[in-house]
Amino acid sequence: MRYIDTHAHYNDEAYENILDETLNNCISKNVDYIVNVGYDVPSSKKAIELSDKYDYIYSAIGIHPHDVDNYKPEQILELYEKMNNDKIVAIGEIGLDYAFVKDNKQKQKKLFIDQIKLANYLKLPILIHSRDASFDTYDVLKNEEQAKYGTLFHCFQPSDDLVRLVIENGYYVAFGGNITFKRNESFKEYIKKIPIEQIVIETDCPYLAPVPYRGTVNTSANLPIICDKLAEYKEMNVEDVAKAVYENSLKFFNIKQK
Ligand SMILES: [Zn+2]
Ligand SMILES: [Zn+2]
Repeated sequence: MRYIDTHAHYNDEAYENILDETLNNCISKNVDYIVNVGYDVPSSKKAIELSDKYDYIYSAIGIHPHDVDNYKPEQILELYEKMNNDKIVAIGEIGLDYAFVKDNKQKQKKLFIDQIKLANYLKLPILIHSRDASFDTYDVLKNEEQAKYGTLFHCFQPSDDLVRLVIENGYYVAFGGNITFKRNESFKEYIKKIPIEQIVIETDCPYLAPVPYRGTVNTSANLPIICDKLAEYKEMNVEDVAKAVYENSLKFFNIKQK
């Protein structure tokens, strides 16, 4: 079985001194491609630099809702225009996060909408980060701005509304290490309902290491654990799940296989 990590942060300082050995280990564990995701201007710049350096790494650039006060979408456009954009495959991660800050909802929404517009302008899909904000995420996508070139919910937290929205619109969802957590057993009922054609896997590394590696620095080498759990919840053969999520990832990001 071969794997694609649709959401990783090798631009994080956790890998500063161990990047080459970590990536080599992932490659030896059948990881073929990695989409490295930015969350502000410096990390997006670094994501592009990594995709320039490693042929199997692609990049996504964008401003996370946590940084709503610190950066502007124009700076992301500037990176796209000034740097090598051949391997930039998405705008992300962008979205809404009310888990820590709730008093800036309007500002977060504006930043989210402006970056969806940027993605449409650049003809790129979007990677959505939505945490404790499912109603407003639903509202933006339904009533404010649609991404024309693809929508993927990373680290998907299923709810009745969002699952309906995903199924109705053919959006993609990515599941990561959190589906192995005991407290997320309720995901199973939702996962059963989402067509396999709309599902991919991710690590969100260095965060969210799956059971039994919780608390360690996560890497793309843990993708098989996530794939196993997904197959269990989907009640499908694991080889079929691995093949489906691999092909879905190539299609979503428009990656041409070598
Ligand atoms: Zn995220
Ligand atoms: Zn992330």
